[in-house]
Amino acid sequence: MTGIYDGHCHVATARCIPRQFVADVAGNVHAGLAARGPAPSVDRIVQGYAAQHQDHLADGLVAEMDAAGVEKAVLLVPDFSLRLPGSPPPEEAARLHHAVRQRHPGRFWVYVGIDPRRGPDGARAFEDQVERYELDGVKLYPPCGFSPSDPRLYPYYEICAARSLPVFVHTGPTAASLDYESAHPLLIDGAARDFPTVPFVLGHAGLTHVDVAGYLAAYRPNVYLDIGGFASTPTLRDWPGHLNRLFRLGLNHKVLFGTDWPLGRLAGGLKRLVDEVVHGPTVFAGVPAVERDLVLGGNLLRVLAPGSRPKP
Ligand SMILES: [Zn+2]
Repeated sequence: MTGIYDGHCHVATARCIPRQFVADVAGNVHAGLAARGPAPSVDRIVQGYAAQHQDHLADGLVAEMDAAGVEKAVLLVPDFSLRLPGSPPPEEAARLHHAVRQRHPGRFWVYVGIDPRRGPDGARAFEDQVERYELDGVKLYPPCGFSPSDPRLYPYYEICAARSLPVFVHTGPTAASLDYESAHPLLIDGAARDFPTVPFVLGHAGLTHVDVAGYLAAYRPNVYLDIGGFASTPTLRDWPGHLNRLFRLGLNHKVLFGTDWPLGRLAGGLKRLVDEVVHGPTVFAGVPAVERDLVLGGNLLRVLAPGSRPKP
């Protein structure tokens, strides 16, 4: 195995993650704690998260990647700016992430956010950003209020097809202020059918909606599953057992390892997660090494454009 590649990370910066999003996450944490006894207020939980989101240039993330043996990671940059106040517009987010990549050469791929409501001007601006910042893919956040098969996204997908860029699509639950109906994985079907050369990676789909996402991955050659957030999904208490069951479904050529860092940062960080996945007794029990290597990096390298692959 050449190394471990994390297909799902974010820069832990309050400059890109809107406060409302954090407040929504904190609201659920508070509900769980308050039901069991005295709990910190939502505001205090938000302040705790905010203190964890000061890694603006990803120095902390790179230190954790080094400790965990992660060679390179995908930075996902959702575009919340038409829905949640305090989010940077895509151009600014792309510039911030470009600065991160210049500071840490060779350590990150960057997928930038798009939103179909920006229309043809948005598609042109997106292509300019791809060119200027050498972006590697697209991050879609349908809970902001659109379907990933919205025809207004097709001009963007044409650009992805022409430039061999993968599209990462959030699926499943998210911040309580957003829409869950548009986060169903089956909504990718039209786009996946119409753009067969574009890889579509369904975010979190190895954790929630596994049945639907699993048959999409099995029968649509260009659909893949991400497992980002596996250790922080409230409904998956036994995540090593869950991942082991997932890795026995015959889909290991379609599953991408991802942590969703900084999620889980407070619970031991990247090294603890990677150690449990790679060296723990459960996650890859009974899974052939060649399939494990696909999950831990081979599939991601295949999804990315050949030009983006690290030189052997
Ligand atoms: Zn994420």
